[in-house]
Amino acid sequence: MYAKNTWKKYEDHSDEVMSFNEDYKRFISQNKTERACVKDAIEMAKNAGFQDISCFDELKTGDKVYVNNRGKNIALFIIGQKPLYEGMRILGAHIDSPRMDLKQNPLYEADDFALLDTHYYGGIKKYQWVTIPLSLYGVVVKKDGTVIDVVIGEDDNDPVVGVSDLLVHLSGEQLDKKAAKVIEGENLDITVGSMPLKGADKDAVKANILKLLKDKYDMEEEDFLSAEIEVVPSGPARDYGLDRSMVAGYGHDDRVCAYTSLKAILDSDVSTYTSCAILVDKEEIGSVGATGAQSLFFENTVALLLMKMGIDSFVKTRETLARSMMLSSDVSAGVDPLYASAYDKKNAAYLGRGIVFNKYTGARGKSGSNDASGEYVGHIRSIMDQAGIYFQTAELGKVDQGGGGTIAYILGNYGMDVIDAGIAVLNMHAPMEIVSKVDVYETYQAYKVFLKDA
Ligand code: MN
Ligand code: MN
Repeated sequence: MYAKNTWKKYEDHSDEVMSFNEDYKRFISQNKTERACVKDAIEMAKNAGFQDISCFDELKTGDKVYVNNRGKNIALFIIGQKPLYEGMRILGAHIDSPRMDLKQNPLYEADDFALLDTHYYGGIKKYQWVTIPLSLYGVVVKKDGTVIDVVIGEDDNDPVVGVSDLLVHLSGEQLDKKAAKVIEGENLDITVGSMPLKGADKDAVKANILKLLKDKYDMEEEDFLSAEIEVVPSGPARDYGLDRSMVAGYGHDDRVCAYTSLKAILDSDVSTYTSCAILVDKEEIGSVGATGAQSLFFENTVALLLMKMGIDSFVKTRETLARSMMLSSDVSAGVDPLYASAYDKKNAAYLGRGIVFNKYTGARGKSGSNDASGEYVGHIRSIMDQAGIYFQTAELGKVDQGGGGTIAYILGNYGMDVIDAGIAVLNMHAPMEIVSKVDVYETYQAYKVFLKDA
């Protein structure tokens, strides 16, 4: 069903939409880093009968297996009825979100405050990240290899931290600057304390923070060198709108597609082709590194699966990938009525109109996009219509308005068919993003349909 208000489909059973979103809200409220997402995904996968790859000497139809890459990237599979090298049905989403990361040497004292220096991660409007409650979330790795989990600012009894901004009374000069410069990247520093350590003289406030960190986490200042602490908006996801039709929360991009992809495979049975969901890291900074989509992890994993089916072949590995079909599960820009002129309304995504297919994204003449083939789009339309899924098609804004990337083209490099398919978001990359509950649910249904495709 093309571009129709999807609430109509659920008029008489909106309960299932609402209850699915309760679980989704729990997921994004508790998992604000890629590491937390992978940890929870493994827990959920185990409960659904999936096992780590190391538990299998050989793999056969119906086996449910996951492969964990450094706790930041995970691939899950249900081995299908056809041989693996006939291709897979793949859902791929990213679990990193825009934020601020602590620098390696972050802690300093200035004007009787202790502060933590950050480098922002991904594309943000910096002015949106000041004067809001923030949490510190991540790990500190000590020299002996001990990994300390840190989550400060999420429990009701926790303190929060934040980035300050100049009072309006003294902002004449600041308010004349361009919005991109109103808050400078180097000014995104986190205030973490103001009380001096008893008996200390120089940098006594900083010394007090170091003492707190020593007492609570047994960490030294030097341990920041090997820490990965992400600064994220504090607090749980909430219902948005008087009618509770939407979810306000941090990190819908792209945990809303990650969660629905994960749930889709966990709730699926064996189908004709092998089902796969991959949750990747680092999309927001170019899909780089060992845990990003450009890593050979996924290709190596497919080779490993084939090995466990008795096939040790580079050619078959590449064949498996080339014969696969993929939905690059990523969010789309929902039309904002306050800024309607940024969109071509005939080719834009609307909150509440179901899953969004982006044939291409990109910028400046489709540059950097995957641009799925008409044949593949035709196939996807057909299976969605057969299953009664409500869907829409969109571009990311007007021509030459801007643009964005996804992981679609990276998997497309293998010669597989890929299309971007996900959920429309308002306020994308802001500390509080908005999605429609009915889109979350319909997208989950659409992902299940795709995995079943024979
Ligand atoms: Mn993004
Ligand atoms: Mn995204």
